[in-house]
Amino acid sequence: MERQGWVGLGLVSLGEAKQDKTRKFMLSSKRYPQWRSRRPPRDIWQQNRKRIWNRDQQRCQGPYCQDKPKGSLLLKQAHIDHIIELSLGGTNADSNLRALCRRCHTLRISHAHRGMIRAALNRGEIPSDWRSLLWK
Ligand SMILES: [Zn+2]
Repeated sequence: MERQGWVGLGLVSLGEAKQDKTRKFMLSSKRYPQWRSRRPPRDIWQQNRKRIWNRDQQRCQGPYCQDKPKGSLLLKQAHIDHIIELSLGGTNADSNLRALCRRCHTLRISHAHRGMIRAALNRGEIPSDWRSLLWK
């Protein structure tokens, strides 16, 4: 007797399910290239964070922090930004990464950051005319 397993709403054989999963993954990775270039595992990402933060002289690279001194951004507060978003084909290469403070990161025009705007407004980090402060 063939082994059976539940997949989705239907009862299909495990062999079929595996094939289906592989097929779906291949389809999705073509359609959504970011699925191939997600952030690396947490431990590697933490090393990347620190390396980028040091390379950027422990300072926010955003337009509102140009006059801030070296070392003014704490590692734990640093946001490592993908200059070209992963969803738009950007990579995790160092050349595509930079250190930002939370405020500059929030104000960067990006679909990925929309949720941050509301939180920053609630915290009073950005003014109500934040739209005029957006940058690319
Ligand atoms: Zn900044």
